[in-house]
This record gives sequence, structure tokens and C-alpha cells, in this order.
Amino acid sequence: MIAVSVSPGLDHDPGEHHVERVGRVEACYEGLVCVGLESELNIVKSKVASDSIITSIHDSTYLEKLDAVAQMGGAFVDKWGDTWVGEKTPHEARVAVGGAIEVVDEQLRSETSSGLVLARPPGHHAGVVTPMGFCVLNTAAIAANYLSQMGEKVAILDWDVHHGNGTQDIFWKRPDVLYISSHEWPLYPGTGDIDEVGDSEAVGTTLNLPYPRGTTGDVMLMGLENLILPILDSFGATWIVISSGFDSHRLDPLGSLSFSAGDFGMFSEKLVQSYKSRMTYILEGGYNFNSLAKCTGSVACALIGEKYKDVDELATNGGPGREVVEKAISIHKSIGRFI
Ligand SMILES: [Zn+2]
Repeated sequence: MIAVSVSPGLDHDPGEHHVERVGRVEACYEGLVCVGLESELNIVKSKVASDSIITSIHDSTYLEKLDAVAQMGGAFVDKWGDTWVGEKTPHEARVAVGGAIEVVDEQLRSETSSGLVLARPPGHHAGVVTPMGFCVLNTAAIAANYLSQMGEKVAILDWDVHHGNGTQDIFWKRPDVLYISSHEWPLYPGTGDIDEVGDSEAVGTTLNLPYPRGTTGDVMLMGLENLILPILDSFGATWIVISSGFDSHRLDPLGSLSFSAGDFGMFSEKLVQSYKSRMTYILEGGYNFNSLAKCTGSVACALIGEKYKDVDELATNGGPGREVVEKAISIHKSIGRFI
């Protein structure tokens, strides 16, 4: 079984011309139905997260500012003008966080190994006091911190096409939570270079794999097998929170990586086979509805142990990026913290 929460954010509507729009979560759920896995889902009800859970990561004044913008009728709140906070956005963002907390609580209660949080707005660009890149509350960071406070050794694996600068900033000086990101480079937001490895006591607990456009699934798999899995093992992760952006799919309009839906299943299968910690997938980006459905279906098949059968979406190979993995291995070997 997979513990699943579905928080479509229907009252958070940046507009029909915005890519982060209503319908994304429904597309993901449709992908689960298409692969026939409804009977494998343990649907948990999303609740509104408490302010005390949210302010374990975000500043309380930030929540007050979000609520004030909402009460004034809403506005785009970042300097690029692409992060919308409407009248109901703070509520929907709290529900997205609450859905993640309910899923990990269910995983703890039932000892379910896999969790899937289908929610919007996304979160990994949001910092302690900053909305950014369609993100309002950093759901993955809040969930990771929640688990860490309960004694879990938590690693965050972020495979969104964009670097999760908010999450990296939040854990930059914390040696107790590992942050690993693969993303396209160069691309928005411009952070996540290979030599960003964490600060002071936490050097080596941030790992960045900035892949060139066109990078395919075989290269990501090489990074998983030769760097990410050995680091997870050495760190001793008991829980992996996956910032699961599907905008690294080859058909996504916002990125140019070349992963297929089958690749996300392959990465998940490798994690399941190689590492016995629990995993919670939290939706981040992904703006092609058809790709969102297929990627979600592929991941769920891997978590249940079934083969993903869409021949058009089988694993991809032959792209650039191997030198990125080799350089990252060299950098992290020279740090010597985990490998
Ligand atoms: Zn993204």
C-alpha cells in the first residue's frame, strides 16, 4: 500500500494562463487510476497544518504577511511576478503541508514504507521568509524537519528540473538533514552549482548535481548508483523525502532535461531495492498534464513492485552529463564526510 494525500489547491488559482494551475494534482491522480493502482492506495485526509508546525521552518511574521496579502485580495508577491498569493492561498498552502504531515503520520502508524503527497502550491523554492517560484510554504522542508524532530535520519532528494534553493538554504548549516538535488544547469533560480556543499559544521551534507540540458535517465541512474546511494548509506538515512518535481520530464515546457516517465520509476525502483528506509514523495513542479499523469503512475508502479508498461515512456539514455557525476564524486571524496 501507498499512503496518499490529495490536496488539489482548487482555491489557489494563479489564473488559466499560469503554468502552475488548477488541474495538476488531478492529472497526477489520474495517472494512478490509469495504471490500475487505486486498490493499492491508502488515501488519508488532508488537514490544515498548525501554525506551530509551519513555524518550525518559516518565520511567524512571514505567515502574518501572507495572511495580510490574502486579506487585501491577493497579489503576485515575488520580484519576478510569478508567485501568486490569493485570498485562499495561505489556507491551501497550509492544507498542502497538512497533507504531507498526515501522510508521514500514517506511515509511522501503519509502518507503510511509501507515501505520496499530491499537493499544490509547490514548495521547494520557498525560504524562511520568502515566497518564490510559485512556492509559498516549503512543504518538503517542514515534513523533513518534522520527521527529524521525531528522531528519524532524514535525507531530501530533489529531482525537480529547478534547484530547490529554498530547501538548500533552510538546511545549509544543518548536519542532521541531508539535501541532494539534481537539476538542469544553467536554469532558474541560478543556484545549485556543483561546489555548493553546505556550510561550517554541515560541509558535505548538501550535494548538487547540475546537469546540462538533454541529460537522460541513464546519467541520473549513474549518479544514483555511484554517489547518491553510497552517501545515503553512509549518512544512515532512515527516511527519504523526495521533492518530486516532474518538470525534469522531457516534454515539460519549463525545462530541457530528457527524463522519461519510465526513468522516474527506474530511479524509484533503485531506491526501493537498494535502500530500506521509508520514502515520502512530495509533488513539486511539473507542468505538462499528460507527463504528470505518466510520471506519477510510473513511480507508483515501482513502489508497489509492478512493471510500468508504457513503451513510449521507457528509460532514456545517451545524453550528456556524465562528467557532472564524476566531478561531484571527486568533490565529495575530497570532503571525505560520507565517501
Ligand atoms: Zn521546477
